[in-house]
Amino acid sequence: MTDNSHFWEKSVEALTRSQLEDLQWVRLQKTLERVTRSRFYEDRFKEWGLSPSRFEGLDDLCRLPFTTKEDLRSAYPYGFLCTPRDQLVRLHVSSGTTGQATAIFYTRKDVENWADLLARSMYMTGARPGDTFQNLTGYGLFTGGLGFHYGAERLGLLTIPAGAGNSKRQIQLMRDFATSIIHIIPSYALLLMPIMMEMGVDPRRDLQLRIGFVGAEPYSEEVRRRIQDFYGIRVFNSYGLSEMNGPGVAFECSSQQGMHVWEDSYLVEIIDPQTLKPVPHGSYGEMVLTSLNREAMPLLRYRTKDLTRILPGECPCGRVHRRLDRMQGRSDDMFIIKGVNIFPVQVEQVLMNIPQVGNNYLILLRNENNIDEMIVRVEVTDRVFVEDMRQLQTLQKKIARDLRGELLITPLVELVEPHSLPKNDGKAVRLRDERRK
Ligand code: AMP
Ligand code: ZN
Repeated sequence: MTDNSHFWEKSVEALTRSQLEDLQWVRLQKTLERVTRSRFYEDRFKEWGLSPSRFEGLDDLCRLPFTTKEDLRSAYPYGFLCTPRDQLVRLHVSSGTTGQATAIFYTRKDVENWADLLARSMYMTGARPGDTFQNLTGYGLFTGGLGFHYGAERLGLLTIPAGAGNSKRQIQLMRDFATSIIHIIPSYALLLMPIMMEMGVDPRRDLQLRIGFVGAEPYSEEVRRRIQDFYGIRVFNSYGLSEMNGPGVAFECSSQQGMHVWEDSYLVEIIDPQTLKPVPHGSYGEMVLTSLNREAMPLLRYRTKDLTRILPGECPCGRVHRRLDRMQGRSDDMFIIKGVNIFPVQVEQVLMNIPQVGNNYLILLRNENNIDEMIVRVEVTDRVFVEDMRQLQTLQKKIARDLRGELLITPLVELVEPHSLPKNDGKAVRLRDERRK
């Protein structure tokens, strides 16, 4: 599996670990030299009493404090900028699902390197010139649209900038241009299914799809399975965040066993979010990233808030870059109810294993008379909806029982009509916490 044709850029994908570390060190030195051109890091290095030129190796990085989202916000909009304004060619603004937005800048070189990372990622899954690539994610401030677009063109795919939404036209485009690869966020992939069925389109029979790049929000293996089964495609998990360019930070290879994080461009640490110390090798924790190849806005030890772990062992594909496990969620998505810590994706995992459950759900947290309540609203499939009351009650009980098995608390389960829960084209909102009003 290590022949040249499997690599987009063999010289950075198939290095030995020590060659990779040499490259990382060269790039880290450049990054350290560059960051102090920004107001934020110039001040910080003074405050810390540290000099970037005094670093002697990769291990020295852990002497630095972390950079946080709050730092990015406090320095908004230009405090992290390391290049003169006339060298910038792009800016993106992070979705701000968890508060005020942050701005990310790119030089021409940043945009090119980013496109290369995505071309490399897509190539790794088997995407090749001759494929038609339909990008069903939002173009605009969200990095998923333009990020993948540039990467796909760089790779030489016929790229359809479809954007998110307008579902009937999406399906028409897939048909007319024999789309073979899609990029889509998981919640939209689920929402598109009933629309296809309504239009009488069976993707396995009527479309040419073979690959899906799915990411930008947490999803479970069960959802991957649903998407794969319905569309007849192989789904590759894709991870990124605006602060580190956008997508193309980590991506699954054809082994589909974790995402290779591109360590020539990002240094990875996994820390305990409470103690801020590194976790034992292979344990879950919060991922911290340092960008190694960014010009406009490099970040040192950035706390992503994303919870994952590094998978042990080597990947059969021959890439040295370590693999991340599926994201469990963001530490700020975790909620506590009746003393139990829960991630929305745990609920999803249970629901999506039950065939009568449709593709949309909502977790609602309420406080009634000083008692916390967890309500799980679940869309059922069209077929179930016409069934009689008794069967619906049986289903409701089964869902509550299965959730209890996973979560150790029994939520209130409400079954609702298919397609009745709120939906949007962007990242799905799976949790509504009404307790803190
Ligand atoms: P944004 O920069 O606004 O596009 O959001 C980036 C965030 O989306 C990340 O920090 C993750 O929390 C989430 N995210 C992106 N890709 C994935 C993925 N494949 N699985 C889980 N969460 C993801
Ligand atoms: Zn691999």
